[in-house]
Amino acid sequence: MSRFDLSRRGLLTAFGGGLALTQTGPALAQAAFDVNPFRLGVTAGDPQPDGFVIWTRLAPDPLAWGSGMPNAPMAVQWEVAADRGFRTVVRTGEAVARPELGHSVHVEVEGLEPARAYFYRFTVGTERSGVGRAKTTPVVGAAMDRAKFGILGCQAYESGYYTAHRKIAAEDLDFIFCYGDYIYEGRGNPTYQNAAGPMENPRVHLGGEVYSLDDYRRRYSQYTMDVDLQASRASAAWFAVFDDHEVDNNWVGEIDQDGTPSEIFLLRRAAAMQAFYEFMPMRKSAFPRGSSRQLYRRAQYGNLMDLSFLDTRQFRSDQPCDDKFGASCAAIDAPEAQVLGQAQEAWLFNNLDRSTATWKVLAQQVMMMDLNRNSSEGWSVNPDSWAGYSTPRRHLLKHLQDRKVSNAVVLTGDEHQNFAGDLFLDGRHPEGAPIASEFVGTSISSGGDGVDQKPEWAAFMAANPQLKFLNSQRGYLVCDVTPERWQTEFKVLDQIHNRDGVLTTRAKYAIEAGKPGLVEA
Ligand code: FE
Ligand code: CA
Repeated sequence: MSRFDLSRRGLLTAFGGGLALTQTGPALAQAAFDVNPFRLGVTAGDPQPDGFVIWTRLAPDPLAWGSGMPNAPMAVQWEVAADRGFRTVVRTGEAVARPELGHSVHVEVEGLEPARAYFYRFTVGTERSGVGRAKTTPVVGAAMDRAKFGILGCQAYESGYYTAHRKIAAEDLDFIFCYGDYIYEGRGNPTYQNAAGPMENPRVHLGGEVYSLDDYRRRYSQYTMDVDLQASRASAAWFAVFDDHEVDNNWVGEIDQDGTPSEIFLLRRAAAMQAFYEFMPMRKSAFPRGSSRQLYRRAQYGNLMDLSFLDTRQFRSDQPCDDKFGASCAAIDAPEAQVLGQAQEAWLFNNLDRSTATWKVLAQQVMMMDLNRNSSEGWSVNPDSWAGYSTPRRHLLKHLQDRKVSNAVVLTGDEHQNFAGDLFLDGRHPEGAPIASEFVGTSISSGGDGVDQKPEWAAFMAANPQLKFLNSQRGYLVCDVTPERWQTEFKVLDQIHNRDGVLTTRAKYAIEAGKPGLVEA
């Protein structure tokens, strides 16, 4: 497919810091491609006031062993410009795409101006990538009159097309928060079961369940080759976190759902952590260390928003009630249970206590509302959500209440349904002013077409008065934030089993600053 000459080149410092390739490193492969190697697109992430990460991955044949690349490092040039036509180039450099990292490239661009849009692209040999766009964040503490950002995740490839990605790419967003389930780990399934019998999946995963680094790389490649997903990734900087399916369904800590010995599961977790890093626009501070990585981090958006991106998987204790959805058991109230772990919780409390921003945002994976999931048979919960961990859940909400942390907003995914609701210490007794509000984004594709409403939801809504909105169509959220008001739009598609889905704004819910609780907008 491609020809490669090996030639020794001089010192390259492009990867920077402790990861620099030195003169004594391996020979660089010379770029000579028959096919454009930027078939996985470009993306940017983790913006700060002076820059962001730009990402690409050399892959002339993404689904082939080694993605069609030689087993040698290769130099890649990058440019950042003030305009889409690259007439005003403001930063350039050279990076090394290394075989150890699947020829992915992560450049931490610095020296840019705050709160403005830039454009970036890569070149290798005579081949050039597409153009991506990303905005830097405002200076910390700067007065900001508006921010507009997207929320998405849960994109099971087999369940439908990525029309939602194509649509969100056309919104003019400051950034996108991806709450995880970027890939799903399961084997390829040509069909799935529904009430009417076996149905054909619109698309099929290549191969079996993914375990090894090469398995994960191929799964990420299959997803990332989708041009609608590439448009979304190139349209705005992403803040990406993982949830469960980047590793294995409902894993927590060192525990998977199959009873695998921990030391073996941790080998799989290490492969998954590396693949996530390789495909996401992450900073070096998030570089994987064995089976672990630093995922939780903070971003400050002027004086308007203080965002804490949480990790509700790596440090969590095992799900109670055998992780059975809609169950109830004494272990829900286990006093030693953890969701964030003590170190992350202390870090979060410190962020919240010191923040002077109007809106304090907890951007994370699993639902914080402790909804009653089975109203006909008494109290029962989703044990893979905060509701399965009443002690740390109460500890966090009590902290917000006691420290008078105003305007706290929780952003969530995982459920494959849209929810908007208010947070109370105990959802069985939603009394007094709400402590915070929560928006749960649906899915890009997981769950298939979905439905707007189900008849049985009337009883569910009646049993959970803190819940204001519920919908089960696919799509994404757009948050429009000002110092006076937070508004979230629920954007949904009428279908995803073909590429002709029509997008509408299904609902809008708002919070007025200083007035706790959701209002319909
Ligand atoms: Fe999901
Ligand atoms: Ca999930």
